[in-house]
Amino acid sequence: MLSRPLTLRLLLAAAAAYVLLHGLSMAVCSAHAAAISYCFVIVATLLAVTGCIRRAQAGPADMRLPWTMVGVGILLWCCGAALEGWQELVQHVSSANASSSDFIIFIFGVPILLAISTPTRQDRRLFFVWLDSIQAVMTAYLIYLAFFTVSPFTHKPIEPISASTLILIYTVENLVLAGSASLRLFAHQRKGDSHYFYWALTCFLWIYTICIAISNYVYLTNHGNTGFYDLLSDLPFLFLAAASVLLVRGRTEDSPVFDRGKLMLFIDNLSPTFFTAALFLLSFAVMRQHFYAGIVSALLALSIYSIRTTMLQSLSVRAEQRLREAHDRLEAISLTDSLTGVANRRHFDRTLEMEWNRTVRTRHPLALLIIDIDYFKKLNDRYGHPHGDRCLIRIAQAMRDGLPRSGDLLARYGGEEFLLLLPTTDQAGAELVAARMQKAVASLDISYEPEHRTTISIGLAVSEHPHSGTTAELIDAADDALYRAKKNGRDRVEIGVFGVRHLKVE
Ligand code: GH3
Ligand code: MG
Ligand code: MG
Repeated sequence: MLSRPLTLRLLLAAAAAYVLLHGLSMAVCSAHAAAISYCFVIVATLLAVTGCIRRAQAGPADMRLPWTMVGVGILLWCCGAALEGWQELVQHVSSANASSSDFIIFIFGVPILLAISTPTRQDRRLFFVWLDSIQAVMTAYLIYLAFFTVSPFTHKPIEPISASTLILIYTVENLVLAGSASLRLFAHQRKGDSHYFYWALTCFLWIYTICIAISNYVYLTNHGNTGFYDLLSDLPFLFLAAASVLLVRGRTEDSPVFDRGKLMLFIDNLSPTFFTAALFLLSFAVMRQHFYAGIVSALLALSIYSIRTTMLQSLSVRAEQRLREAHDRLEAISLTDSLTGVANRRHFDRTLEMEWNRTVRTRHPLALLIIDIDYFKKLNDRYGHPHGDRCLIRIAQAMRDGLPRSGDLLARYGGEEFLLLLPTTDQAGAELVAARMQKAVASLDISYEPEHRTTISIGLAVSEHPHSGTTAELIDAADDALYRAKKNGRDRVEIGVFGVRHLKVE
């Protein structure tokens, strides 16, 4: 594959050679200069169309539609130019007024404006493409009305507008297209294929606007004789053909280059309404002479705008809902122990703080149990870690199943140790729960050695009204009790001393 600078130079040389050949052919066969110009311009447009279609096929999926629409626009222009050549050179139709070829050339802007106003994000749905297509047909109809003052297929005599008015309308159309594309490019602060598309389209439209304005001016002032100014018509199409060949520099994935400002975001969100705005303006322009057509198209533009806004609104609400669900799922994951599925340490810390404050406020007792599996290392050493993991999961689930109250929280402290927080539970209640935990583990019938069933030791501490001390002290008290349970032979519950100092002072 050729390097980018080399490809660029080759393309420039090819374009220069093309224009030179065009000029030389005109000079050599000056009698057929007009026919030669038509041929060269048509070939240049076909090159641009091929480039756009190739780009649409080879590029990323989300850029397929915009490149295709630009290709369709240029193809319309090409057909218009071919028809104009036929009318001028074969049929010798006067070019003093607008003709069908002018109409076709003018509506090349319809698919181009659609390409500019189509959103590049995921919200480009088939439904929106349909809405845009309806707008495009209506726009083409209004343009026809504006050009020929009668509806198409009515067999009434047409009253075409003059060439000078036509050129003025052309220039306005080109400026609107180039301006909209520039706005879109300015607001589209992303690197990659979509940015390249707006860049290429904006450059093409400005080159087109300038070149066509100059040759139209010469056409008007020289009474239809444009001479070598015809070469200008090649330039925009050659540029687009060359731009469609160049590869996007850097990443092909669209990626934001920096945080977008409010204005850019506003323009980006506004762009889908560019076309609706154009249809509105056109409706008001024809309303003077074609009242009903103007009213109907203005109403249509308004309806399409309302439908689009409502659809976007509901899409955004749905996206927000999905985001919230994803956030909730992530939060649940961040609060869960990945092995056992019970709460993790972070969840426990958060709940302990909350329950502690509630306990102090409501003057209810709060019990804390630290549960440690006895001789778990032996179980691992004998049967392997994967078996140990499975036992850990079963033990955690059995203990959780033994907790019917929704406020009770079982969390993995780390390793083979668990914490159990029992709000509104006094010492007697906590002892009952501790015994239930021992029973639940025993019923699993897990052995760390063939003759030795796995058991648990529990350290228990209770904070009662009037509450004193801190949560850390409550944990320390339960931990001390657990230490004693281990020391006193395991498979037992020991009660920690907590809040005594405070009680004594009272
Ligand atoms: P004790 O009765 O004194 O508590 O004895 P123990 O063997 O249970 O205690 P010790 O603290 O000496 O060892 C804890 C062992 O728990 C160490 C490690 O083999 C095991 N363990 C800790 N976390 C995991 C885990 O996530 N999976 C498995 N399979 N084993 C673990
Ligand atoms: Mg331990
Ligand atoms: Mg242990």
